[in-house]
Amino acid sequence: MNLRHAVALTVLAAMLCAVPLLSWSQQSSEKAVTDQLAASIYNGPSMATLGELADGIGGRLTGSPAYVRSAEWAVAKFRSYGIQNVRLEPFIIPAGWQRGTATGALLTPLSRPLNLASLGWAPSTPAGGVQGTVVLISDVEPDALRSREEGIRGKIVFLDTAKIYADGYGKAIPKMEAAWRLFQKAGVLAVITPDREKSNVLNAHDGLWGAKLLSIPAAEVGMEDSKLIQRELERGTVTLQMTIENKTSGEMKVNNVIAEIRGSERPDDWILIGAHLDSWDFGTGAQDNGAGAVSVLEVGRALMALGKAPRRSIRLALWGGEEQGLLGSYAYTQTHLRELNDCIAVLNTDNGAGHPKGWKVEGREDLKKALQPLSDGVW
Ligand SMILES: [Zn+2]
Repeated sequence: MNLRHAVALTVLAAMLCAVPLLSWSQQSSEKAVTDQLAASIYNGPSMATLGELADGIGGRLTGSPAYVRSAEWAVAKFRSYGIQNVRLEPFIIPAGWQRGTATGALLTPLSRPLNLASLGWAPSTPAGGVQGTVVLISDVEPDALRSREEGIRGKIVFLDTAKIYADGYGKAIPKMEAAWRLFQKAGVLAVITPDREKSNVLNAHDGLWGAKLLSIPAAEVGMEDSKLIQRELERGTVTLQMTIENKTSGEMKVNNVIAEIRGSERPDDWILIGAHLDSWDFGTGAQDNGAGAVSVLEVGRALMALGKAPRRSIRLALWGGEEQGLLGSYAYTQTHLRELNDCIAVLNTDNGAGHPKGWKVEGREDLKKALQPLSDGVW
């Protein structure tokens, strides 16, 4: 039932934003409408729809064939609800990437397999893989890195990300972009980064944001295996081997999915209800963010089933490229720059299908106030 709670919260918040001028309490007819919408959602197909996306299509990395299928599926879903204005809105990512295989092993001082996976947007190793001694890099300040340049030639760099990202990911990213360039220039064979999940579990992620191809092969290594490597590095020399095969391509077009229900009284005012459609590829993307994507679809279905247009226009958006750094939603703001002053509110859902407790409001205090009634003891 939690997904239905989440969907209901989304649609009720949308209705609140779509009602101009009068206060919530004055709108008794709106109460009847929201009751009708809530009933439609509770009796609706949200779990079956999520099954089609998560089980039927599965993980849908931005730009992958599965992502393309999911976008086409979403278009067909919106149209099946009777929404006329449904379209794919393209944006360009710098590189396409699809995961292949990745294997690795410690060679000395111990011989044992490593639990690893390629970082997203990492290139393949040369055929037969790479083999080399491991050097630890904990400081990516430009001067510190330059002093290591000679020492890392022909080596495998272990990036101590706990230290590098200690002051926040955002601060470290520009330094990391320079570091990747230097690694390539210095002739580093490959990079490994430790994962942070216990039991050697790997969480899919990339080395840099932006769907940009990394300069050299790179893998994430399970936490316990990483700690073993770090302990052995304190004792002496560590060598390892890894082989990665991925598919990469140059620039490619990726589509956001946009559906619009035109408003009856103020059609030029619009409320955007969005969620990212893309996911990482280890799982089926049910929680992150199939649940959010289905919430957006359900808003469309329930509003169309009502048979009554909202007063303001409602745009339903399913983004691509979120996991690579909010690429699809950012592209939308650039394409629709001239219309942004007419945007009344944006509701974006990316929290899975747990019990909803309210909305995070960023940037606008007045929106926080407007959404407060939905957070006060409704559930
Ligand atoms: Zn997400």
